[in-house]
Amino acid sequence: MNGSTPIEAGSERSERAVIPYGRQDITEADLEAVRRVLLSDFLTQGPVVPEFESRMAALVGARFAVASNSATSSLHLACLALGVSRGDLVWTTPITFVASANCARYCGAEVDFVDIDKRSYNISVASLEQKLFAAEKAGRLPKVVIPVHLAGHPADMEPIWRLSRQYGFAIIEDASHAVGGRYRETPVGSCQYSDITIFSFHPVKIITTGEGGMALTNDPVLARKMAQLNSHGITRDPAEMIGTPDGPWYYQQVDLGYNYRMTDVQAALGLSQLERLAEYSARRHVLAARYDELLKAMPVTTPWRDPRDYSGFHLYIIRLNLSLVKHGHREIFEAMRAAGILVNLHYIPVYRQPDYASFGFETDSFPESECYYSEAMTLPLFPKLSEDDQERVVSVLQSVLQ
Ligand SMILES: *Cc1c(COP(=O)(O)O)cnc(C)c1O
Repeated sequence: MNGSTPIEAGSERSERAVIPYGRQDITEADLEAVRRVLLSDFLTQGPVVPEFESRMAALVGARFAVASNSATSSLHLACLALGVSRGDLVWTTPITFVASANCARYCGAEVDFVDIDKRSYNISVASLEQKLFAAEKAGRLPKVVIPVHLAGHPADMEPIWRLSRQYGFAIIEDASHAVGGRYRETPVGSCQYSDITIFSFHPVKIITTGEGGMALTNDPVLARKMAQLNSHGITRDPAEMIGTPDGPWYYQQVDLGYNYRMTDVQAALGLSQLERLAEYSARRHVLAARYDELLKAMPVTTPWRDPRDYSGFHLYIIRLNLSLVKHGHREIFEAMRAAGILVNLHYIPVYRQPDYASFGFETDSFPESECYYSEAMTLPLFPKLSEDDQERVVSVLQSVLQ
């Protein structure tokens, strides 16, 4: 997946020759920001996490932000805050990282999937509408739907939001790929068409805190709930306590929470990285446009994006037109990797995971996701990818496809 693509120990290849699909960029300014926190009074629960939260909230135009130790934790907190529990249903797209679905299972809810749109590879609004219509008749409507902005291209939120009003479900946007993106005129994270939006700061994502995530919302009740559950379900605010405080030492656990907190060290890295977000996004777009051009004559489909949106461009995903090439999907991957181009596949449909087998999903229910899985390939894309390396990616692909 996801994760710093490991360079195998003992590999004969020199590190220089290998091009990963994604890579973090750490500058002297980042090092200095982290160093300052390490030498300060607080490594965690100091002033830097709240500063990172308020800067991010201001940047995307959301009222509240709650930082955590991963997007996975933030997805869990979001589900809990929305009251997801045993007996509930949560729907998401199968073409996502497993965390988008697992968060519902942590709460004891059941997960179901909605097939993807053949052009954007995001959750299909038409399939969602059909499935909701059938679910209402069967009395099995979802409590929450989790659209994922795959590759950074925003899912079509406005019609999904309209459906949420009609059928009464809540929306969590998994925007792990879309930090710095825009849906129509509005930054991803503003929650204009959702209850909560989640960002990831894993090193392969747009900006990093090492591990880290954030939940954004405009709802003060959801924000309070997530902040409390993020830190053991404990409050120090007398207004939230049952009865009166015993004394100045007093705190109360008012709910069963977790320790999902981000540290100040991580937040310092995040704040420093945030300074370069616009630069990173612009660079990703330049490289993507270059790929579009370089791949023009090849038997591949380059990524579609809605001209009204601005993608976060976390991933550059192509579809191989396998009817025009003599090798199979797997052989092409193997040849690319053997040449040091660490292409990847985002993602294996979640319903195919062995841990989901007991739920009895049928691959026939998700024809677009199946087709996608048989053709998709993620090419390297990260701010420090050089033009030369990009050309090498394309020329290796060209020779492999011939
Ligand atoms: C990376 C990712 C996550 C999980 O992020 P972590 O910060 O690693 O927990 C969730 N959803 C999607 C779509 C992701 O790509």
